[in-house]
Amino acid sequence: MSERANPFETLQSQIDDAAAHLDVSDDVIERLKHPERVLETNLTVELDDGGLERFKAFRSQFNGDRGPYKGGIRYHPGVTRDEVKALSGWMVYKCATVDIPYGGGKGGIVVDPSDYSESEIERLTRAFAKELRPLIGEDRDIPAPDVNTGQREMNWIKDTYETLENTTEPGVITGKNIASGGSKGRVEATGRSTVIAAREAFDYLDKDLEGATVAVQGYGNAGWIAAKLIDEMGATVVAATDSSGGIYNPDGFDPVAAKDHKTETGSIVGYEEADDEITNEDVLTMDVDLLIPAALENAIDGDLAEEVQADVISEAANGPLTPEADAVLEDEDVFVIPDILANAGGVTVSYFEWVQNRQRFYWTEEKVNQELEALIVEAFDSLVDTLEEYDLDNPRTAAYVVAIQRVADAFEEAGTFP
Ligand code: GLU
Repeated sequence: MSERANPFETLQSQIDDAAAHLDVSDDVIERLKHPERVLETNLTVELDDGGLERFKAFRSQFNGDRGPYKGGIRYHPGVTRDEVKALSGWMVYKCATVDIPYGGGKGGIVVDPSDYSESEIERLTRAFAKELRPLIGEDRDIPAPDVNTGQREMNWIKDTYETLENTTEPGVITGKNIASGGSKGRVEATGRSTVIAAREAFDYLDKDLEGATVAVQGYGNAGWIAAKLIDEMGATVVAATDSSGGIYNPDGFDPVAAKDHKTETGSIVGYEEADDEITNEDVLTMDVDLLIPAALENAIDGDLAEEVQADVISEAANGPLTPEADAVLEDEDVFVIPDILANAGGVTVSYFEWVQNRQRFYWTEEKVNQELEALIVEAFDSLVDTLEEYDLDNPRTAAYVVAIQRVADAFEEAGTFP
């Protein structure tokens, strides 16, 4: 493995690649490459044994030209300031790609949640919510789930905020459970956009999804739902990994049964219908039609990209390819559906949740899924139109061309203040 890429530098190089094709001034591009502000805070939390522990946490508000900052909060020992900055920037361009009225933000706490009890995680989450209180709000900055956070944490943040503000404002955060004002379809939404985008790409490339083979790296909320939905579309999931290892069956396996095995035992490893054990590198370099990286950044670097055999990659994770990997895969004509489109379903249904919260009027799951489908298909169509119009080879560059232009237009219309 080569040296680990810095995700913030990756983001900036992705912006530069697209800016070269745009008639947007260098000064504006410079603005669009840096966060507006970053909160860095140290949270003091009481542990169950009565001791105290300090946790570092961040919230980056990257750009608010198109609307309130929007983006998740992750709990992971590998969280860094630059990672959070990069993730917040990807949110800006993700929201612009699917054309929802948000800027971008992201938060993170440096913690391995599996080392702590539920009540310790609750106190940690509420401590962060207290720090975030002046920054967030349904018209300011709207957090959501990300790696290792979900409905439980969102409900605690909402409750802490509403209690301290003495109000009800469910739209201050998205990804809540239904009882707390969540939206139907939100949990499945990231994986759903990953497979809708893959289906559109297969169609564009004149490839058959029926019977196509699929490998999935990461079996969390995005990965396993993508596996389930692509299987329902007639593709065959042959390989998957999670943080403990991987499983393979050349004839395919039932993704839902694999998930049940993970729920029971903590890992997909050992699932009897796919008992060939594989590594993380094996899943990424497998000879399949579609590869879905659904774990963390930098899963594929330049060296590993040389070994990739998939024809299409749909990025369920944020930032799974280094810029070197992206260049290698472009040369090899692998069609990479960029994260800012492929996983945009999550924030898109967060948007629907926020709309429902503000209207106090709730949609059926059917309506949520229909509206999601329409936005992802439209975003895919404008990506391929841009690919052709600008004669580009890399779908990521095409997505950024569309997205950067939208953000720059909003900034230029507003003008600079002061
Ligand atoms: N964390 C998700 C993402 O990276 C969802 C963000 C949201 O719903 O605001 O897109």
